[in-house]
Amino acid sequence: METTKFMLSEREMPTHWYNVLPDLPAPLPPPLHPGTGQPLGPADLARLFPMELIKQEVSPERSIEIPEEIQQLYRLWRPTPLFRAHRLEKALGTPARIFYKYEGGSPAGSHKLNTAVAQVYYNKQEGVRRLATETGAGQWGSALALACQFFGLQCKVYMVQSSYHQKPYRRVLMETWGARVVPSPSEDTNAGRTIRALDRDSPGSLGIAISEAVEDAASHDDTKYSLGSVLNHVLLHQTVIGLEAKKQMEMAGLYPDVIVGCIGGGSNFAGTFLPFVKDKIDGKNLRIVCVEPEACPSLTKGVCAYDFGDTAKLTPLLRMYTLGHSFVPPRIHAGGLRYHGMAPIVSHLYHLKVVEAVAVHQLATFEAAVTFARAEGILPAPEPSHAIKVTIDEALKCKESGEKKTILLALSGHGHFDLGAYDEFLSGKLKDYEYPTELVKKALEELPKVG
Ligand SMILES: *Cc1c(COP(=O)(O)O)cnc(C)c1O
Repeated sequence: METTKFMLSEREMPTHWYNVLPDLPAPLPPPLHPGTGQPLGPADLARLFPMELIKQEVSPERSIEIPEEIQQLYRLWRPTPLFRAHRLEKALGTPARIFYKYEGGSPAGSHKLNTAVAQVYYNKQEGVRRLATETGAGQWGSALALACQFFGLQCKVYMVQSSYHQKPYRRVLMETWGARVVPSPSEDTNAGRTIRALDRDSPGSLGIAISEAVEDAASHDDTKYSLGSVLNHVLLHQTVIGLEAKKQMEMAGLYPDVIVGCIGGGSNFAGTFLPFVKDKIDGKNLRIVCVEPEACPSLTKGVCAYDFGDTAKLTPLLRMYTLGHSFVPPRIHAGGLRYHGMAPIVSHLYHLKVVEAVAVHQLATFEAAVTFARAEGILPAPEPSHAIKVTIDEALKCKESGEKKTILLALSGHGHFDLGAYDEFLSGKLKDYEYPTELVKKALEELPKVG
């Protein structure tokens, strides 16, 4: 019998996060102050984030110790399993060896709890009592709600309006874990009221919700802001995924030829591939494929420029691939992939051609998800289903060429709260959205002029 599941013991769990910053082939362009256009200092961020996270954001240390209290919480669901997808391989008739690292076993159902518990821990250490955040599909909001509950902090979540109505169960989950949730744009902030005055029915976007949460944090003394993706410290916390996967691939006696993952802000996939990326920079033959939706194609159709992280232009300027901060993506089901920008680290590595990118359509994504669920049992979230689609394509290419490639797939979460989307797909109601050329063109005209 061939092994299906590669498990680490608790003692083999990583004790340090991996920081890629000192290993990058060229230094990461710094964030800029939105007013002056000058590089940001730590003091500029102190209103929004605790000092320890600001330090991690720019740390030159390759390895950062995971505090014991965080490790203890990690042990509730970590180490996570690495599976060999024997049954999917068989269904496809491919000689490729497909592995997937599964993060859906966390109580919140995705990788997001890895950074949520770390962020809440450091905020609590510095006396913060309340956190404000945004959420798209609700995965980040629910992860932060639970982490706040673990540490006894209050949590206010601005949830993108379209998801608030499409995915009511995520809101219930957040409320069960003690958070206060409002649909965004809301009446609770200037940013929200301004947009509602222009468009009562605005579906909202992550960019708008971020504006609201940032304003909330900046206007309350006991409150800080928490971001579930994009920033360096978030990607850092997620490296526990890749560090574990690397050991598990060693147990399997194989090194991946291709690593595939979905990118919304870039955190789950960067967390998976970053521990492998130094090997590639040092010359190892490895492809790293980022998968994004056709409806929100930041890497494949965006530009690399300094842009705001939010719609109301409250955040620092980040150099990243962006569709423009005013871009509001179509209402696809993969809510976690509806973000106009991309993590600066992922953007930088794409710019340097260390990683590649491909965009896929919604229908093909759900077809792949159903194929995967029928073979492997796990019902994937719509976000990582984008990566499943590309994994299946790679495996089918191997079938044609006879190559026995090893593919590692980042399976960031389960889709138990997305059954409405599956229902639409199974009953033939789901449609594709074209790449919104005109909307992106308009949004790109509004990029800030710097550098
Ligand atoms: C939020 C989310 C994503 C997208 O965010 P990243 O920061 O790119 O990882 C992907 N998959 C799942 C399950 C998510 O919850």
